[in-house]
Amino acid sequence: MTAAIDETFSSLKGRFRGDLLRPHDEAYAQAHGIWNAMAARKPGLIARCADVADVQSAVLAAAAAGVLTAVRCGGHSLAGFSTCDGGLVIDLSRMRQVSVDREARRGHFAGGCLLGSIDKATQKHGLVFPSGVVSHTGAAGLVLGGGFGWLTRLHGLSCDNVEGFTLVAADGSVVHANAKQNAELFWALRGGGGNFGVVTEFEVKLHPVTSVALCQAICFGDDISSLVRHWRSFMPEAPDQLKWNLNLRIAPSTDDIPAHLRGRPVASESILWIGDPEQGRPYLDHVLSFCKPVAVTRKVVSYLALQTMADDEFPHGRRYYTKSGYFKALDDNSIEQMVQALSTVPSPETQIELAYLGGAPARVAPAETAFGDRSSPFVLNLLANWQDASDDAANVAWIRNLFQALRPSMTPGVYVNFMSGDEDDRVPEAYRERWDRLVEVKSHYDPNNFFRLNQNIPPRKTSGKK
Ligand SMILES: Cc1cc2nc3c(=O)[nH]c(=O)nc-3n(C[C@H](O)[C@H](O)[C@H](O)COP(=O)(O)OP(=O)(O)OC[C@H]3O[C@@H](n4cnc5c(N)ncnc54)[C@H](O)[C@@H]3O)c2cc1C
Repeated sequence: MTAAIDETFSSLKGRFRGDLLRPHDEAYAQAHGIWNAMAARKPGLIARCADVADVQSAVLAAAAAGVLTAVRCGGHSLAGFSTCDGGLVIDLSRMRQVSVDREARRGHFAGGCLLGSIDKATQKHGLVFPSGVVSHTGAAGLVLGGGFGWLTRLHGLSCDNVEGFTLVAADGSVVHANAKQNAELFWALRGGGGNFGVVTEFEVKLHPVTSVALCQAICFGDDISSLVRHWRSFMPEAPDQLKWNLNLRIAPSTDDIPAHLRGRPVASESILWIGDPEQGRPYLDHVLSFCKPVAVTRKVVSYLALQTMADDEFPHGRRYYTKSGYFKALDDNSIEQMVQALSTVPSPETQIELAYLGGAPARVAPAETAFGDRSSPFVLNLLANWQDASDDAANVAWIRNLFQALRPSMTPGVYVNFMSGDEDDRVPEAYRERWDRLVEVKSHYDPNNFFRLNQNIPPRKTSGKK
């Protein structure tokens, strides 16, 4: 790999406008890390692109030299796909331009944007692009896998709000994909992840939202199970403007948590109303009437405050491991298993995250995009979060055991962006009836599987480079 990396470097040197960083360069130390310390690797070269021409050069040089290549936007891949040992990282972090057409409610953003870069630019016009819940997440990885967050039930998945992509394909060409041009690629890019090329620009729909009504509360003891059961029954009938997320976890020792609950298992709930707060008030009152919530806060918050409120809970450089899946219906036994598991959780930062989709994403026909599953509304994400490498085995085992116990009650399927790096075998499960069509598109645009550091859809034929 060293000779191939040297060849790639030599080929790019002189014409590359961005930064070429090798392990001995000072800036490499800052540039090589990604969010999940469990997935730390040491690439041989980081090509931090300044523009589309740089992306083309990097793809062509790496393909010619046969170098393993990762593509990085925000570096939040839980599986660590945006880095590699000894190979090349095409780093898009210098490409974070956003433009907004307020009248048309349309925007363009570059392939290296973080969610926060988009939120800040669109909020200047009172508009939003529906995305995820942590502002330091990369937009490209999130959108290409699907993308859900606070606005999903009202405005759809992130990928449902994309009208066009510009990408650099494996042969170095610039390709546009939208409903009229390269329509199969357009279909595949909405959920199929980073399999088809480096997306350098997204053209998206925007929506007017500047603030939301937000309630937060916690329940404890026997109320935890009972709250999840209420949530399960209530959400299928809830209006799209209501988003109610539950996190089962150990209560942190922070000022907002009553002293007697710190360190104890709790259900932490965030209930959001998007729209006129007065119209939402009866719904929020109703949700808060379930069980006996404590530490209740109710406020109207700006969209930017909403989008950054979870940022500090998921810092860069900690160790994370996840397993995820869907339920069509959430049975009492599964709820009990989740609640009971809290008594043995090795890390107080670990969370059992429950979200309910339905709403706008469920009204998009399954064949309209490549996104994996729109029919199972209950999304479960088991997210272990800890500090020390010596605790890896205990944390990974806890997630695997709980997942294995819940698996028989789950619907086949998984959201690709919540998968760990040890789940290759679940990629076909994620796409199921869309798999063959995805393989077809992959075979056309990336026949040698150059873009393979991702939740990989192998092409039908490879020419020996894999
Ligand atoms: C703290 C945190 C919060 C999250 N919250 C949410 C959430 O609210 N909703 C949600 O849906 N998901 C969420 N996720 C999951 C998230 O969608 C994935 O981790 C996603 O991969 C992050 O995108 P990224 O650009 O940072 O990824 P990176 O690590 O930069 O890249 C991951 C992969 O995406 C592909 N990729 C990246 N950029 C490009 C590009 N420009 N062109 C082509 N392919 C590219 C590549 O295959 C790459 O390997 C969260 C993850 C984290 C860590």
